[in-house]
Amino acid sequence: MPRPPIAIIGAGISGLTLARCLRRRNIPAIVYERVKDNPTRNNYGITLRHDTWKSLLEPLQIDERDFKRQLGVRHPKTDAVVEDDGALRVNRAALTRVLQEGVDVKWEHKSIDLSATNDTRSAKFDRNGSSEAIEYGLLVAADGVHSATRSALKLKQSDFEMKTLPYVVFNGKRRIKPLSQVPESLLTAFEKPDGIVHRHGQVALSIKGDFWDSEKDSVAISYTLSRPAKDGDKPLIERNISDAEKLAAQFKDEVAALKDLPPPFDAVFNKDQMIGDRLLHWLMRSSLVDSDALQKSASTQGVLLLGDAAHAQPIPGYGANTAIADAIELARHISPDGKIDIAKFLQARAESWAGDKESAEQDLSNLHNAGTSQSML
Ligand SMILES: Cc1cc2nc3c(=O)[nH]c(=O)nc-3n(C[C@H](O)[C@H](O)[C@H](O)COP(=O)(O)OP(=O)(O)OC[C@H]3O[C@@H](n4cnc5c(N)ncnc54)[C@H](O)[C@@H]3O)c2cc1C
Repeated sequence: MPRPPIAIIGAGISGLTLARCLRRRNIPAIVYERVKDNPTRNNYGITLRHDTWKSLLEPLQIDERDFKRQLGVRHPKTDAVVEDDGALRVNRAALTRVLQEGVDVKWEHKSIDLSATNDTRSAKFDRNGSSEAIEYGLLVAADGVHSATRSALKLKQSDFEMKTLPYVVFNGKRRIKPLSQVPESLLTAFEKPDGIVHRHGQVALSIKGDFWDSEKDSVAISYTLSRPAKDGDKPLIERNISDAEKLAAQFKDEVAALKDLPPPFDAVFNKDQMIGDRLLHWLMRSSLVDSDALQKSASTQGVLLLGDAAHAQPIPGYGANTAIADAIELARHISPDGKIDIAKFLQARAESWAGDKESAEQDLSNLHNAGTSQSML
């Protein structure tokens, strides 16, 4: 009997990159994704390092100029792509669209469980209330930091570490139109892929450019306020506050307490200007699955965790870069008959995961070191 196609759970960054790399090598794969197809989902900017976006050119069969033209975030006035020292700001929705080309994605398939007998391995999905099962030979779980597939593996506690880091981070998204309403100083956020940062004591404020839509004459930015957790932040850190209005009120109160911000931070972190913005609260999390446990679940259950499902850095971190590198490397170790050389894959990738996670945690801590007000524009 022919082997079933490789099942990939999650049409996120690692799942789609893997699917594209396998397609390039004519290895059949099907991606199962929980949500509906939505071309504007995740319509924000992410920063890819030079080696990361370069490594996508071959599997996508695209040249550098087209890659930048189709995916690059552009400066609203100069139209230049936002890049610095090789790093490039790309629109995540555009990246997803390009990765998805030619890939078989089954939308609205939420993976819920795995089961195995002596002869068959199957994965169960929820499809809007009804269930569907597939048989697989190899299943790659690329279903993100809260991976349901990882839960279904029932890893031992000692094989999986998930840390909630002691920081409170609020995120806002704003669209401004027409361009003539955008303060000149705010356009500096579009000059570097990592945007601009201002430290106000232990509070770090950042602004990044998300996109410039020339047809709608509108500019989109993301901004974050982050600070070390204090007594009384338990509901935020444990995410017991589910009421979006209460969170927005707390975000606005913290913004109102900031005095004498320099431009453009004064215009962005401004209670009155925040009306109509999309306001969120992020948990800063890091996680890591032990590589022996990854090896074991791949050999005994035919399941490999990939990207954030296996190791996650706090947002924004370099998680997308790591997810892409993992997927490209993994595709090299899958043979045309769907077999995987897990030892070689782990040898190439696993060592860097713990180090990357620790440096992302350290960067987060450094960002909040007490100091006088300081801008990194
Ligand atoms: C706002 C923001 C900004 C960021 N900026 C950067 C940046 O600048 N640079 C960087 O390197 N990283 C950045 N990151 C981190 C980066 O996005 C992640 O590390 C990366 O997306 C991880 O890729 P992944 O494929 O493992 O998971 P994801 O991209 O999260 O994909 C997981 C997919 O699985 C699907 N899924 C989940 N559960 C199921 C299920 N049960 N069944 C089926 N499908 C399921 C999800 O819907 C999703 O499509 C940012 C993250 C955020 C949120």
